Amino acid sequence: MNIHEYQAREILERFGLPVPKAGVASTPAEARAVAEKLGGRVVVKAQVHAGGRGKAGGVKLASSPEEAEQFAAAMLGTNLVTHQTGPQGVPVRKVMVAEATDIADELYLSIIVDGDLGVPVVIASTEGGMDIEEVADKTPEKLFRVAGDPLIGLSPYHARDIAAALGVPASAQRATAALISNLYRVFVENDCSLVEINPLVITRDGGVIALDAKINIEDDALFRHKDLAALYDPEQEDELERRARGSDLAYVKLDGGRVGCMVNGAGLAMATMDITKWAGANPANFLDIGGSAEQERIEEAFRIIVSDSDVEIILVNLFAGIARSDVVAQGIVNAARETGTSLPMVVAMRGTNAEEGRKILSESGLDITAALDLAGAAEVLRDKLAPAGHGKGGSR
Ligand code: ADP
Ligand code: MG
Repeated sequence: MNIHEYQAREILERFGLPVPKAGVASTPAEARAVAEKLGGRVVVKAQVHAGGRGKAGGVKLASSPEEAEQFAAAMLGTNLVTHQTGPQGVPVRKVMVAEATDIADELYLSIIVDGDLGVPVVIASTEGGMDIEEVADKTPEKLFRVAGDPLIGLSPYHARDIAAALGVPASAQRATAALISNLYRVFVENDCSLVEINPLVITRDGGVIALDAKINIEDDALFRHKDLAALYDPEQEDELERRARGSDLAYVKLDGGRVGCMVNGAGLAMATMDITKWAGANPANFLDIGGSAEQERIEEAFRIIVSDSDVEIILVNLFAGIARSDVVAQGIVNAARETGTSLPMVVAMRGTNAEEGRKILSESGLDITAALDLAGAAEVLRDKLAPAGHGKGGSR
């Protein structure tokens, strides 16, 4: 789960990291009041769950409270489009007004869980303020990585190594090492999947300060962070992902595919995507209906899949244990009728009441091909995807 910059900033402050003085505002008048309190120059920053705000006009330097008010008025109530949002952008309901920092150098610092190593890894770079993906792509030698230890954490000498690799001036070495150690605590104690400070700034007077803050909390750990869970902002999320979250369905949108995948279980999701690739196509999404499967949730799952305009064919792969095939089949048929979808479906069902499920599907009159197993489903899928000139060009 993503949170806003002003919320992330507060967490960093609580853990002792240096951050700019700031306040949050929902109206231009409030923005002006914050700017007055801070005195002098401020930056007005659109609060959205997306980066790249600077280049998109979502970060503005104001030299007076009046100007801060004007910038806030121009941002609030609009949708901000950045290279990280879709073309429709995300709504700006709040702005953060922060004191302007005199920047000498912009650096990069983040912590993620490294999937291969299975531990948190600190990533640092002298190339701050820009897209880190681009740095990783073009000049990977400019990324410095240090793995933390799950038991020991990040050793002080590691923090000092990172500060040294960042080339911070002697005056800021100690503060930067402390900042890195504290950021590691932020990461671990809040069950984060990402903390990112871009830019980490060296100030003109030789200090160090975290100018931007991005924090993602691991969804599966939210149950033990009620205060963080309360920061969830549904408005910032893609509509289909929001609906899936509301029904406790795991939905993941994937770029560039045309097969909608409905499965139960993460392992089955992986196998289903492999088989989709084998059939010469790419998944447009996958939706995991999980273990329990009431008809209503199946119906909502199906509606979500057909609402994805990239989907040209639906692959349902079910291994019914606790879930019952007949309930899932009825849910699919109901939702297909209700939405009036004409998308073809390939369905593989095994397990509890599989035969009844297949019967419901075959008698529904919908464009559904029932397969006995995943291998059978893959062959049907391959044949259906085969016709030349169909859609967005599969890789066959
Ligand atoms: P984003 O990553 O969404 O573009 P940032 O918070 O990183 O937003 O801001 C973009 C740029 O604006 C920064 O790289 C920095 O140069 C400048 N900036 C941001 N906050 C401040 C601040 N408090 N004082 C001075 N400049 C700032
Ligand atoms: Mg940034």
